Amino acid sequence: MKIHEYQAKTLFKRYAVPVPEGAVAFTPEEALQVADTLGGFPVVVKAQIHAGGRGKGGGVKLAHSREEVTRVAEEMLGMTLVTHQTGPEGRVVKKLLVEQGLDIAKELYLSIVPDRASAQVVIMASEAGGMDIEAVAEETPEKIIKVGINPLIGIQGYHALQVAHGLNLDSALVKPFVQLLNNLYRFFMAHDASLVEINPLVITAQQTVLALDAKITFDDNALFRQKEIVEYRDLDEEDPLEVEASKFNLNYINLDGNVGNMVNGAGLAMATMDIIKLAGARPANFLDVGGGANAEMVENGFRIILSDPNVKGILINIFGGILRCDVLAEGVVKAAAQTGIKVPVVVRMEGTNVEQGRKILDESKLNLIAAVDLKDAAQKVAEIVGG
Ligand code: ADP
Ligand code: MG
Repeated sequence: MKIHEYQAKTLFKRYAVPVPEGAVAFTPEEALQVADTLGGFPVVVKAQIHAGGRGKGGGVKLAHSREEVTRVAEEMLGMTLVTHQTGPEGRVVKKLLVEQGLDIAKELYLSIVPDRASAQVVIMASEAGGMDIEAVAEETPEKIIKVGINPLIGIQGYHALQVAHGLNLDSALVKPFVQLLNNLYRFFMAHDASLVEINPLVITAQQTVLALDAKITFDDNALFRQKEIVEYRDLDEEDPLEVEASKFNLNYINLDGNVGNMVNGAGLAMATMDIIKLAGARPANFLDVGGGANAEMVENGFRIILSDPNVKGILINIFGGILRCDVLAEGVVKAAAQTGIKVPVVVRMEGTNVEQGRKILDESKLNLIAAVDLKDAAQKVAEIVGG
């Protein structure tokens, strides 16, 4: 789960990670009210969307007067902001962060991520911070330093000093930086984050160090014990079909092809997506209804696929095990009765109670296309969508 920059900064404050003064605003009037509390100009108006690269896309603007705050806020609210992270469709800006404009001497990069390969928590940092860290990683990876921490032992003094020295910090800045990093690490562990990224971490002309940007992702599997974090969820920023699917515990991810597919088991779902591609078509989604799905879950999954306007053909690929074929068939028939099937559906079904399942589908009089095996199913559906 992702959160907004202004929410991340609220959390940072609580962990004594320094951030600029500022607050969220939903209207130009509120933006002005916040600006008036900041004790002077310039202030910075920042679009709040769950994607980075806002600066380059026109989502971060300086304002030097009250009039400019109003004008910038009016322009930004409601605009569709396109950045390299939003995709070409962009995101509509619905809220702003208005904060102090700082006098920046240097922009650094700092992040914390878990590294599965080494089973460590890794701190990454670079002197070459600011907006182009992806290019730095690509072209001059030696400019990024990495320090691994054993999570059972936790961050030690020498870890933080190693990062501080790697960043070539002035001696006067080492102590505040080490404190900031320790606090950030404490935050990362306490809230089951899977990414904390500060780009840029700035050194101001007044020789203070602050988090100017804040990007946080939390581990979805840990949200059950992060009740307070869940409050920060912003459904506006998520794919509506994925939000709907998550209500029914379905593993659903929206993709950009046009073959909807419903499969039980993540491995079979991956294989099905592969074979759809091999047949020359592209999957519109990943959907694992789960090995132990009931008719209701199947019904909801099928309904979600049917409601996706990009879907031009559907492939149901079920290997009946714990999920029996008759249960699947019932779910499909119910969803079809509710939503109506407007696109051709190819069904490949094998396993437990397959005969009962086929009978239910036959008797339903639904216009379904039977396939003998996985390859046949993929070819049939690819033909339908014109792959
Ligand atoms: P993004 O990463 O989405 O582009 P950032 O928050 O990193 O957004 O802002 C982009 C750039 O705008 C920063 O690298 C910094 O140069 C400038 N900036 C952002 N916030 C401030 C601020 N409060 N004061 C001065 N400059 C800022
Ligand atoms: Mg940034």
